[in-house]
Amino acid sequence: MSKNVVIIGGGAGGASVAAEAKRMDPSLSISIIESGSYTSVAA
Ligand SMILES: Cc1cc2nc3c(=O)[nH]c(=O)nc-3n(C[C@H](O)[C@H](O)[C@H](O)COP(=O)(O)OP(=O)(O)OC[C@H]3O[C@@H](n4cnc5c(N)ncnc54)[C@H](O)[C@@H]3O)c2cc1C
Repeated sequence: MSKNVVIIGGGAGGASVAAEAKRMDPSLSISIIESGSYTSVAA
């Protein structure tokens, strides 16, 4: 069964954590909760 990860905040930090977690374990199901109108635009 795949693991679920919930990240609060879709800024640079949240997006970086999501990308790195997915690299470490591609089977993860990751959700980002962002209270603002936009998520990270950083590369
Ligand atoms: C005017 C300005 C210009 C900048 N220009 C640059 C630049 O040119 N280059 C550069 O490298 N850096 C720049 N920075 C710095 C950069 O924006 C920050 O270092 C970076 O955004 C920090 O990322 P973070 O994910 O830690 O925090 P944030 O970007 O603040 O992300 C946190 C996110 O969490 C969300 N959030 C908070 N509480 C909740 C909640 N309870 N539920 C859901 N979501 C929540 C917020 O809406 C936010 O989107 C600039 C900063 C400012 C203020």
